[in-house]
Formats: sequence, C-alpha cells, structure tokens
Amino acid sequence: MNVIFLGPPGAGKGTQCKVIADRYQLRHLSSGDILRRERADNTDLGQKAQSFMDSGRLVPDDLIVAMMMKEINAADTNSGVVLDGFPRTIGQAEELDKALNAAGKDIDVVLCLDVDDDKLEHRITGRRSCSGCGAAYHITFNPPQVDGICDKCQKELTQRSDDTAEVVKNRIKTYHDQTAPLVSFYKEKGNLKNVDGNVAIEQVTQAMCDILDRVST
Ligand code: AMP
Repeated sequence: MNVIFLGPPGAGKGTQCKVIADRYQLRHLSSGDILRRERADNTDLGQKAQSFMDSGRLVPDDLIVAMMMKEINAADTNSGVVLDGFPRTIGQAEELDKALNAAGKDIDVVLCLDVDDDKLEHRITGRRSCSGCGAAYHITFNPPQVDGICDKCQKELTQRSDDTAEVVKNRIKTYHDQTAPLVSFYKEKGNLKNVDGNVAIEQVTQAMCDILDRVST
C-alpha cells in the first residue's frame, strides 16, 4: 500500500505518519526530514535547499523530485511507502505519477489532514524536540516536566529554525498557494480521503486507520 499525506504545516502529518508507518509496516519518507539531513551533512543539495527552507518557500521541483525518487527507489517498497510532505506541487505530483506508473506501481490513497488555519501557528511555534533522543514536545499541549529539558534523556530541547512565527506565516501561505491545489488534483483521480485533524491525536489516528483498513483489504 502506498499512501500520500497532504495537509498544511502543523496539521500533524509527521506524528501520524510515524504511527501509520509502524502499524502497516510502511516505509516513512518525509521530504522535510531528508532535506534537514542533507543540510546537517552540508551536501550540495542541503546548501541549495537552505535559503528556501529558512524563508518558508518550497525547494525547486527538479531538486525535490530527484531526491524523493532516489529515496523511493532505494526503499524496500514491498509493503509500500507513506509519503510525508511530498508531493507539494502539481508538478511534483505529475512526476511522481509518471515514475510510479513506469515501475508498475500506484498511489492507493491520499489522506488529507484538515486543520483550521487559526490553530496552525500556535501548534508549530510551540513545537520543541530533544537534541539527544529526538523526542517531541509542545510547550502547551505536551510540555516537559522541566522547562527546556527532555524528560527521557535530560538533554536540551531545541526549536526548528523554520518554526518561528514569521517563517510559519510564509509556510502556511505557501501551502495555500502551491500545495492546496493538490486536493482537487487527487479528488479528481478519486483517491482522496479527508480527515479532521482538529481533534485529539488518537482520534485522528483512528479515523486514518479506519480508512486504511478499508483500502488494504
Ligand atoms: P516540512 O518538514 O515538511 O515542514 O518541510 C520543511 C521545508 O522543507 C519546507 O518549508 C520546504 O522549504 C522544504 N520542503 C519539504 N518538502 C518539500 C517539497 N515536497 N517540495 C519543496 N520543498 C519542500
């Protein structure tokens, strides 16, 4: 089963993708995580992506498509992949379709996590993660016991450099301008399923599993 996750920044795609990938034994491929790794390793791609990411704009399609196709082809895709943050433009979606069709594969379902715009900024700017073990926190919804310190390994918590209020506004605008058109694109293809992402994490997971259980049987 191959699954695409759509939704604005802060909708909870990363959190839900991890659970879904684990439950259905799918390979989780997050374009944002891959780009952050490229930046940490200071690769050519990481350097090219830097200014786009720091300002909340999209990295150009040709770079992203090449990067993601390499990852998809390298993944052991027998059981399938869950794509998190890719595609993010119509151009990327068309390239993905072409490449999958050439390999005799297809997208089984596109899950779109809908969250009201007014909730997104607070969800994102409050996010923190542990610099040691990567555990995720939120200063309001899931705070650590000691401010700024990981409960599990006592290392310092950090904030993503593009999770600041100013960049978040651009990321949300970029989503509406360039990524939201994918909703109609996949609706026309007939494999889009909307999920209410305004409710509790566990409720969102359950709604997604109900859909995936139907798709995978
Ligand atoms: P994310 O972690 O998904 O929020 O992505 C962080 C940043 O990486 C985005 O704001 C973009 O600059 C870049 N990025 C991630 N995925 C894509 C994509 N599919 N196309 C273009 N840029 C992307």
